[in-house]
Amino acid sequence: TFRALVLDQQDKSVSASFKNLTTEDLPEGDVLVRVKWSTLNYKDGMILNGLGRLVRSYPHVPGVDFSGEVVSSTDRRYKPGDEVILTGWRVGEAHWGGYAQYARVKADWLVPLPNGLGADQAMAIGTAGFTSMLAVMALEEQGVSPDQDGEVLVTGAAGGVGSVAVSILAALGYRVAASTGRAETHQYLRDLGATTIVDRNELTDTSKPLLSEKWVGAIDSVGSSTLAHVLSEMKYHGVVAACGLAGGPDLPATVIPFLLRGARLIGIDSVMCPYAYRVKAWERLARQLPTDHLSAATTKVALSEILPWGEKILKGQVKGRVLIDVQDC
Ligand code: NAP
Repeated sequence: TFRALVLDQQDKSVSASFKNLTTEDLPEGDVLVRVKWSTLNYKDGMILNGLGRLVRSYPHVPGVDFSGEVVSSTDRRYKPGDEVILTGWRVGEAHWGGYAQYARVKADWLVPLPNGLGADQAMAIGTAGFTSMLAVMALEEQGVSPDQDGEVLVTGAAGGVGSVAVSILAALGYRVAASTGRAETHQYLRDLGATTIVDRNELTDTSKPLLSEKWVGAIDSVGSSTLAHVLSEMKYHGVVAACGLAGGPDLPATVIPFLLRGARLIGIDSVMCPYAYRVKAWERLARQLPTDHLSAATTKVALSEILPWGEKILKGQVKGRVLIDVQDC
């Protein structure tokens, strides 16, 4: 038997408990993985608390990402002992996820652990950090470069997506402005490479469609009035990568920044991201994310201790990334 966190639903309320399962309890799939590490993402916080109608069928094993070792495989791309990463594909939502010591999944959903990255580091990055790299790649594809005159803004900077985005951008030579609502994270953000700190209260006014031009690019995890405000501050042809909704799913904006400044708003999706692009993003993460910054942004938690963290992340109280030691349960 092995340990798993299992969510059950009764009378519309979701409860969580640790159970002993066997591999026969696992869903069908072509690769059985011994899960070593998982993580806590904002979406995991929602799922642990039964929010957002993300999980439609119970009992359910949450955990939207994991890394581990292949135990057996009927797909010839993977053999026992291979180290693998899984993010996205609605694992942890529509399929059982990484908060269990074994997972059975489709080979198509896996990515080999890239050279230069430990399985623990891969999950210190996790879905959030992978999304940050997709956002950086989107800015580059739209012509944003470190040679431009101006800063790239990261909102929700002390969160998971934000922290990794600040580190990658700084390592690539961008000047980075980090927006946070938590004064106690200012030094942390400077250590990750932010050159300017912006109070998040300065990014909520949506009364004017255009404000003075400030940013060549932006990576936004907040959405809502923050994203609307940021759009109104983009420099000519500035590019915003919209990654998240920590502040709400609405967008109270006008089209004026698009029409008068050629601002560009690019959507980022990590869940259905195609395989070749995934591999490219992971290879870049292995090479371009400074490991000392990644350690500074990571808190390690035993799987047995994860439940209170699920509430903390929804309140915006988690700094950086939470790495879950799945075998510690
Ligand atoms: P997280 O660690 O909780 O980070 C979110 C950060 O947003 C918080 O740390 C906080 O930063 C800020 N924030 C929270 N509530 C806020 C509010 N009401 N107003 C303004 N700022 C607020 O979560 P995460 O895992 O990094 O995920 C961030 C967002 O990206 C989530 O919405 C998540 O669903 C989304 N996401 C999307 C994808 C995708 O594929 N598109 C993938 C991963 C995550 P400060 O304390 O620094 O202000």
